[in-house]
Amino acid sequence: MTQDIKTESAAVCHFCGEPSGTYMYSARSLHGKEFHLYRCSACRAAYLFPQPSDEELAEAYADDYYGEGEEKFSGWIETVLNAFRRRRARTVLKRTPAEAKVLDIGCGNGMFLKYVAEEGRRGYGIELPGKSLERARRIPSLTLKEGKLEPDDFEPDSFDMVTLWHVFEHLDKPRQTLDIISGITKPGGYLALSLPNIDSWQAERWKADWFHLDPPRHLFFLGPEPLIQQVTDRGFRLVAKNFFSLEQNPFGMQQSLLNRRSAHRDVLFEALKGRPGGGRGYSSLNITLQKLFYMGTFPLFAALSLCEAAAGRGGTMELIFQKLEKDG
Ligand SMILES: [Zn+2]
Repeated sequence: MTQDIKTESAAVCHFCGEPSGTYMYSARSLHGKEFHLYRCSACRAAYLFPQPSDEELAEAYADDYYGEGEEKFSGWIETVLNAFRRRRARTVLKRTPAEAKVLDIGCGNGMFLKYVAEEGRRGYGIELPGKSLERARRIPSLTLKEGKLEPDDFEPDSFDMVTLWHVFEHLDKPRQTLDIISGITKPGGYLALSLPNIDSWQAERWKADWFHLDPPRHLFFLGPEPLIQQVTDRGFRLVAKNFFSLEQNPFGMQQSLLNRRSAHRDVLFEALKGRPGGGRGYSSLNITLQKLFYMGTFPLFAALSLCEAAAGRGGTMELIFQKLEKDG
């Protein structure tokens, strides 16, 4: 059965729909299921084939994905992450005028939109039903939609900025979503997105063990070049790209290294989210050693992340595009 899938010559691309995938490798999910990754020869997307079933996605997105308590992570980690997110939000929002309309697709618990509101902009968010959306609803002054972005949700040229923070790779209709975004972004407005970089050094080094692969939640990946091509084809120009993230990239390497040595993936990550034994019954000594490895080697992996970023091969990327004026 597995052999048949690996030699499948008609693996249909999740992004462009062409049946021209080449098998890359297979990776296990958090729940121990195997998923197969293919590379499209038409648009160069990497994608899971077959795509996960509704049941597999429901299992992968069970509420504890977002953490056991109020926040995704425990204590000081959340505090540090929030400092990163606040800085990133302020930097990005400097591009928009006062009272700009900002749409965050896949807004999670609304943390980015909270900063949007603090900066005097008007925040709009879309999120699937669940605990995260309930948390977002407690933030005042936001306009939230439960569900997915649909073609008639907003008027054309509505937004000064549309953002997708680590959301694009989760989309079930990514091409349609890009088309809608192109329509609802004002000329001169911005599209900002961050996502894992399948063409990074860490992805190529660790393959199936790569932390940011995250099967089956990440349905597909576009590397920087094909992604820039897709967005510029829809009337945008690239204005900024960044391949360094202290929040994402050193940890991406560290967890990938641990994955290669472990029967289960992402045990440290799950433990940092507050799941006892990493959700897999690992001893507290084992978890403590993993945390010590994480902290002790962080400077080394931060330095390696700087190197991969300098080469344009960082483990994650943040790209900002500006919508062209209509007659320009
Ligand atoms: Zn394709």
